[in-house]
Amino acid sequence: PLSGNRQALISLSDKKDLAVLGNGLQDLGYQIVSTGGTASALESAGLPVTKVEQLTSFPEMLDGRVKTLHPNVHGGILARRDQKHHMASLSKHGIGTFDVVVVNLYPFYEKVTSARGIEFEDGIENIDIGGPAMIRAAAKNHKDVLVVVDSEDYPALLEFLKGDKDDQQFRRKLAWKAFQHVASYDSAVSEWLWKQTSEEDKFPQSLTVPMLLKSPLRYGENPHQKAAFYVDKSLSEVNAGGIATAIQHHGKEMSYNNYLDADAAWNCVSEFESPTCVVVKHTNPCGVASRVDILEAYRLAVKADPVSAFGGIVAFNIEVDEALAKEIREFRSPADGETRMFYEIVVAPNYTKKGLEILRGKSKTLRILEASKNEKGKLSLRQVGGGWLAQDSDDLTPQEIQFKAVSEKAPQKSELADAEFAWLCVKHVKSNAIVIAKNNCMLGMGSGQPNRLESLRIALKKAGEEVKGAALASDAFFPFAWKDAVEEACESGVSVIAEPGGSIRDGDAIDCCNKINVLTDDIVREILMS
Ligand code: 5GP
Repeated sequence: PLSGNRQALISLSDKKDLAVLGNGLQDLGYQIVSTGGTASALESAGLPVTKVEQLTSFPEMLDGRVKTLHPNVHGGILARRDQKHHMASLSKHGIGTFDVVVVNLYPFYEKVTSARGIEFEDGIENIDIGGPAMIRAAAKNHKDVLVVVDSEDYPALLEFLKGDKDDQQFRRKLAWKAFQHVASYDSAVSEWLWKQTSEEDKFPQSLTVPMLLKSPLRYGENPHQKAAFYVDKSLSEVNAGGIATAIQHHGKEMSYNNYLDADAAWNCVSEFESPTCVVVKHTNPCGVASRVDILEAYRLAVKADPVSAFGGIVAFNIEVDEALAKEIREFRSPADGETRMFYEIVVAPNYTKKGLEILRGKSKTLRILEASKNEKGKLSLRQVGGGWLAQDSDDLTPQEIQFKAVSEKAPQKSELADAEFAWLCVKHVKSNAIVIAKNNCMLGMGSGQPNRLESLRIALKKAGEEVKGAALASDAFFPFAWKDAVEEACESGVSVIAEPGGSIRDGDAIDCCNKINVLTDDIVREILMS
């Protein structure tokens, strides 16, 4: 009955911009066929629509499990227009063709990860069956059927339909995206089901991390390496934050190393609750300071190591307003008191209009990023030859970290606060990591040395005289060379040491602290104790 007309099939769980799409298609002379909820929404928007039931002469059944799984639907999508016998079959059965298929799926991922949790049965009901079938069918037959799974592609679709040029590249791109959408969906279902089968082993049996190309990069770590940036599209993009979803307001194109550095800076600064500035160079924080006055925090973070900070990444956990932007623009290097500081990137959760305008004026190249907090509870992956190591992301909040004093001297409140601050910083310094901090300010850090004593010496040197009475954090226990390191730290004037403990020679380290009258804070995470 509808054959001969141009038809679009629309079945959407997420009905964002549906009216725009519907109006656009109607203006172009398309007949719209839709499933129940989508048809009602189109009708409310005043658009004529044919219900799938009319097409199939079958009601939606089994609580929606079977809506579109019918030859009148799938025949119309899958028939090859260049095969006479295909077209003859369609006309024999009175089936019209579909030129456009627009489908997005039940929000499975959002449902199973919702804060309220979900019953197993509910999870199962949220597995979309007919939707993926239509998407796959349309993507297979993309030569003649345009398949759209993302509302952001509606304008491009409508533009394409308005034009008179048939571009197979455009069709292939849509088909590629459609299969990507279904693959992400199926991997989310499979990972969730795996978690339902095993209590102890919560890691999925197999991992399909759907990665979508975000942008090609000019080159990788070195100019001879080709590179690209992919974003994790595990259907959680709605809440996904982090550097991958940051908005760039200004500046030169982001490079491979820029992304690594911006990520390190953003992750570190997001750790703090009070107004904080973090300066990163070569993926390591070289300055961290928290202050009620963010201008002061910024100056202190740069002052901690002005030489490294030059050309670095500056991150804030609060809005950049006019005053802060001016300070970033004008601040002169504490190294010589003259040269204006230069940065590659500024990252912040937001900017006032004026703040942004001032920063834009600092330099043409300065990359200005607006980032939102990283989604918690994601797997952290690291590549090794032939495989990937997976672990839970390190999401402990400062409140969840338990400190236990193990030496004779009890910690003073300020010492404990310094230890906590140093501990948050040391998490973001590459191992072997040592951080020295006092009064919410990182004074020195040592990183990347194969030997902890070397890291300590570097940190002590950077902290200089200010080390007196400061806290020291070490990302791992002090091993056989503990005595040298702990002794050296104590003798330099460190007043409190925070370390995870666990060395068979912990006792010796504590004795050493007691002797020199320094307190060792053996930091034990409750999770590890239980
Ligand atoms: P509506 O809100 O229009 O009633 O439903 C739209 C949703 O139903 C879409 O997300 C689409 O993927 C899904 N859907 C369409 N046909 C079928 C089907 O035959 N079975 C199942 N389980 N889902 C379908």
